[in-house]
Amino acid sequence: MDIHSQLTIICQSGTATLIDSEKAVELYGINTFGQPQRFAGAIKVFEESVIPQLLKLANTAGFKLHPVSTNNNWGYGSILVNKDPVYLLDLSPLNSITPTNKQLGLITIGPGVTQQQLHDYLVEENWPHMVPVTGAGPSCSLLSNALERGYGITPYTDHFYACNALKAYLPHPELCEQKLSSAVSALDQSGNDFIDKTFKWGLGPYIDGLFTQSNLGVVTEMTLRLAKKPSSFSAFYIQIFEGDDFAEAVSFIRDLLESQSGMVGSINLMDKRRLVSMTCENPNLDKNPIEPLSDEQVNKLAASKRLPEWMIVGSIYGEKPVVNFVKKYIKQKGKKLGRILFSDSWLLKFAHQFVRLPMNFVPAFKDVKGQLTSLKEGIDIMLGEPNQVALPLPYWRNKTTQGKKSRPLDPAAENCGLLWYAPLLPMDPDALKQFVSFVRSTMLQYGLDPLITFTNLKHDCIDSTVPLVFNKQSEEDEIKAFNCLHELITEGCKQGFVPYRLPIHEQQQLDKTSAFWQTINIIKNAVDPNNILSPGKYDSQ
Ligand SMILES: Cc1cc2nc3c(=O)[nH]c(=O)nc-3n(C[C@H](O)[C@H](O)[C@H](O)COP(=O)(O)OP(=O)(O)OC[C@H]3O[C@@H](n4cnc5c(N)ncnc54)[C@H](O)[C@@H]3O)c2cc1C
Repeated sequence: MDIHSQLTIICQSGTATLIDSEKAVELYGINTFGQPQRFAGAIKVFEESVIPQLLKLANTAGFKLHPVSTNNNWGYGSILVNKDPVYLLDLSPLNSITPTNKQLGLITIGPGVTQQQLHDYLVEENWPHMVPVTGAGPSCSLLSNALERGYGITPYTDHFYACNALKAYLPHPELCEQKLSSAVSALDQSGNDFIDKTFKWGLGPYIDGLFTQSNLGVVTEMTLRLAKKPSSFSAFYIQIFEGDDFAEAVSFIRDLLESQSGMVGSINLMDKRRLVSMTCENPNLDKNPIEPLSDEQVNKLAASKRLPEWMIVGSIYGEKPVVNFVKKYIKQKGKKLGRILFSDSWLLKFAHQFVRLPMNFVPAFKDVKGQLTSLKEGIDIMLGEPNQVALPLPYWRNKTTQGKKSRPLDPAAENCGLLWYAPLLPMDPDALKQFVSFVRSTMLQYGLDPLITFTNLKHDCIDSTVPLVFNKQSEEDEIKAFNCLHELITEGCKQGFVPYRLPIHEQQQLDKTSAFWQTINIIKNAVDPNNILSPGKYDSQ
């Protein structure tokens, strides 16, 4: 019997639906770079019990499975399908939410639970907690973002760090029928599995981490520690109008994160081009090829919106006196950098009242309203309210579709071209200056807009997320974007700028001769001897 017929029999029970190849490509193959991925088919899973059966069959029948939760890994991609038949495993229907302990903020979720679904649950059930949101928006899974070791800007910024426990199925032919949980879970005979869900590190070797950025298991459940909504909150914005103050801005951020740790969430530092891309329409869309904004264009657009050279955006969480104390610290130490604004200031409160006025017919008003609405959405994100505030970015060079937030945005489905360059950088003003000039010169050389953001998660490490936004309708532009990304990664590594996460093509270009990748090879062979799970995903191939 062929693979398709055997899968049809398994799916007959109603635990899953088998989708044919053509439909699978249409539903799951589209991404923000390159041609759609070709799959032999897709399997939409409605009940977890079918997963071990599928893994068993994959081992004997010789096909591959690629699990996804919401399949929105925009700018990174999922898997490169080459010759073997690969079936995509869509886990999005597994979206149960189980309250582990409301008082402690512990919640257990399935792979399909999106930011919006958890948000709605917390509101309905009256939980005083925040969703660990990301810029990818309401339709994205929380579990898979943690598996990708993604991060956000709510207080628990590192999403996998907030994962206390997980359960998974291994691809091994003899182990695939048992659900794997930690040694603590296996020892606990109380029947409620509570301790496992409160303690991240378990007992014995820690193996949960092996399921992140890897292809070693199908994760079906994760318990997250949620941050409590603070009794008081303020976002802060520091506009730095002098480019020369960049080094001082970096030192300020480092000191703030170190001295006010626990009260200040992660901090973003964005350059003028990035701010322009967030607030203006691209004036070069009609050009062929689309050119990056010239310095004159950047300056003109920035002046029209009063945008600074650099902008620091951060958040303070805590009891009122604590928030007031940190605000005072920021005012004192940050005043030499530029203009400081707090979200709970009378000025912003007044502005938000002002935008409610029905005056859209005045163009200038519409513009201010747009900016204030985005500001408000940015604040909501910091408070764990999912929204689409960051999602227009991939539409910057989209000639046919604008990223209007009034409808649900889907950058892959709407033909946006996007790749991410996401290096980790030392917290050192000189190194960061060097990085800025390296990124600017490299990207401009390839005709791309260098839109730079630094996210400071801790005082000692910085992550920069640089989007390579290109016109996906032009093959030439796409090739340029790939080449540019490769140069950024390879040249960047020579200067000590090393990625924390890679688009799928770049994962395959890594030198796999190091002891690290050889060890991964041994682990992969032991856990998945028939290489049935997501071949090529962060492995030694
Ligand atoms: C404008 C914009 C802003 C963004 N902002 C952020 C941000 O702030 N932070 C951030 O981290 N990312 C961000 N992203 C990147 C990305 O879109 C998100 O990380 C997104 O959450 C990943 O998609 P997903 O959750 O649907 O994962 P999926 O596509 O479902 O999964 C990603 C990968 O994880 C693995 N996987 C998924 N589920 C399972 C499972 N159950 N078992 C085993 N393996 C599994 C698979 O290998 C899969 O390919 C952004 C993207 C855009 C376009």
